[in-house]
Amino acid sequence: MKYIFKEIKQCEMCNDKSNSHYKIGQRFNKSQGLFPRKKTGLTVTVNKCSNCGLIYSNPMPIPLDILDHYGVLPKDYWKPEYFNILPDIEYLKSEIAKYIDIHASPKVLDIGSGIGKMMKAFIDNGFDAYGIEPSPSFIEMAVNKMKIPKERLQCVQVEDAEFEENFFDLITFGAVFEHLYHPSIALKRALRWLRPGGLVKIQVPSANWLTAKFLNIWYKITFQDNCTNLSPMHTPYHLYEFSLKSFRKNAELNGYEIVGVHYEICDTFLPRIFDRIIKPIMKKTNTGMEIYLLLRKPL
Ligand SMILES: [Zn+2]
Repeated sequence: MKYIFKEIKQCEMCNDKSNSHYKIGQRFNKSQGLFPRKKTGLTVTVNKCSNCGLIYSNPMPIPLDILDHYGVLPKDYWKPEYFNILPDIEYLKSEIAKYIDIHASPKVLDIGSGIGKMMKAFIDNGFDAYGIEPSPSFIEMAVNKMKIPKERLQCVQVEDAEFEENFFDLITFGAVFEHLYHPSIALKRALRWLRPGGLVKIQVPSANWLTAKFLNIWYKITFQDNCTNLSPMHTPYHLYEFSLKSFRKNAELNGYEIVGVHYEICDTFLPRIFDRIIKPIMKKTNTGMEIYLLLRKPL
């Protein structure tokens, strides 16, 4: 894979100048294990914004061809059973019902709609669903396998998509926000397409995940200059990790309110024996792996 390396001068979420930001460590272009010192390869520096806690790499490696990252579908996507299991949106529905009449066929946009599973779940629940997805092979599957109407999908990057202003009641960023080079700009666009009082649902990796902190401490005490955060040059290609503060600061710039926050615990990825101790700590200290946010465009 070939990259250009772009110097980052300010934080994507809060615009704070990067020269005062804290260095967490070096990140290889592959899985690092416990002893990255023994590995060779390309690394980038991973930094943390001292104003909002956003974790990002500097320089930012940008592939010359984005399909190097996202062009090939993981094998799992081709298994027939993969198409039968749809995401459960009951919790999301109960969460948004306070702000949106979910029985009035709300208009929803799924950004990074993939093979259309979320769109299908929305359609089955009476929503009027639209999607944006840059990968043509995903679009093809959404249309052929999930029977999503073709005219409801735009095969573009979010930066290039076009919708009417104030059109949607709800916009969802599934596992996509951390893959965007300019997440704040994408969010700003999404807010334009959202009606006043409408909602944005975002799911992102947390900058305060406890397992990552443990691993980083391990690298420190073994005198290795590495960190485990992000994966800008290997799967799953996470370019950012976010804290709640990243969104609080961004809300001031982009003009929205944060009306819901939930930390998803997930597995620790440490030996099983640790799960029983660490998961409750993660729950108590809001240091789970992901943050789910509900944002609202002011009326
Ligand atoms: Zn920041």
